[in-house]
Amino acid sequence: MYPCIQIDLKKLEHNANFLVQKCKNGGIDSIFGVTKMLAGDVVAIEAIARAGVTHLADSRIENLKRLEDIPLPKVLLRLPMQSELEKVVRYADYSLNSEWTTIEGLNEEAKRQNKCHRIILMFDLGDLREGLWFQSEHHDKLSKIVTLTNIKICGIGTNLTCYGGIIPTREKLGELIRIKEQIELEHSIQLEIISGGNSSSLSLMLKNEMPRGINNLRLGESIVLGRETAYGEMIEGCYPDVFELEAEIIELKRKPSVPNGEIGMDAFGHRPQFIDRGEHLRAILAIGRQDVSPEYLTPLDPGVVILGGSSDHLIVEVSKSSYRMGDVLRFRPSYGGLVQLMTSPYVQKKYL
Ligand SMILES: *Cc1c(COP(=O)(O)O)cnc(C)c1O
Repeated sequence: MYPCIQIDLKKLEHNANFLVQKCKNGGIDSIFGVTKMLAGDVVAIEAIARAGVTHLADSRIENLKRLEDIPLPKVLLRLPMQSELEKVVRYADYSLNSEWTTIEGLNEEAKRQNKCHRIILMFDLGDLREGLWFQSEHHDKLSKIVTLTNIKICGIGTNLTCYGGIIPTREKLGELIRIKEQIELEHSIQLEIISGGNSSSLSLMLKNEMPRGINNLRLGESIVLGRETAYGEMIEGCYPDVFELEAEIIELKRKPSVPNGEIGMDAFGHRPQFIDRGEHLRAILAIGRQDVSPEYLTPLDPGVVILGGSSDHLIVEVSKSSYRMGDVLRFRPSYGGLVQLMTSPYVQKKYL
């Protein structure tokens, strides 16, 4: 059945294991395997779990619920909604937090469920996504949190290179260690987890420049695509081709490269522009923007050029190749494409 996303479980496990070992050598002994781009696909996530990650982390509580049978602690990565605290306490052992009202709500809910909920306090070191602002004073609120009976502050963390594109440098992550030392001193607690970021922190670690004291990373893209995300470089030793998309040709014809008639709007309300490259051989594939945006795909056959697409069709030029009707074309998805393909109920999964 097509379209279909092929998932190579051995390569996935290899990537995760390779990064876990690298991190261990670099003094980072706790790794959150981030699964949010896999939309709760238990088979793929089990491959990551087997590789030695210490926790599984996802941004959606629905996904964590599906992982209940995997015997690793679960972490909710996105800040909890007020409206989901019951589920957060039930299905996540840890959550990342930055709001006092949410933490107090988690404490009340944890009391109701007779549990201890673990939190990692997020600090914003400048990227301007989630976290307490690193230059502000948080002493009074923190004094209150440490007295909450059913909340344990397990650590602190930061998230970079997500909104503001800020690169994790030695100095930036040094700030996090300074915050850790200050909190431990002022509140007489021990912080077990000092989480120095996501796949964008890997290049610092691979260069052996990770400041001592950072003992956790939360890795997603590097595991699934073999790529660090500060500079977008492929990681030597990781597979870039864990995931491949297959889509089937449903029309194959020679046509002009410029539409014939007065040009108005395309299916998405844009006014399209065309370069006249004469007549060429075009294929229509049975996959569309409803499944994945064409910008997120790279054809594996270098002779194939993506021309565009509508909701249910992907149009490619295939003049340089010899395809026949019904043939299947293969593509490598980028991170954005992977998220969409894993989420589309119309895309089948094939495990290798
Ligand atoms: C998505 C996410 C990650 C993982 O990021 P990658 O770049 O895929 O490694 C880590 N932490 C948080 C809070 C996230 O939302």
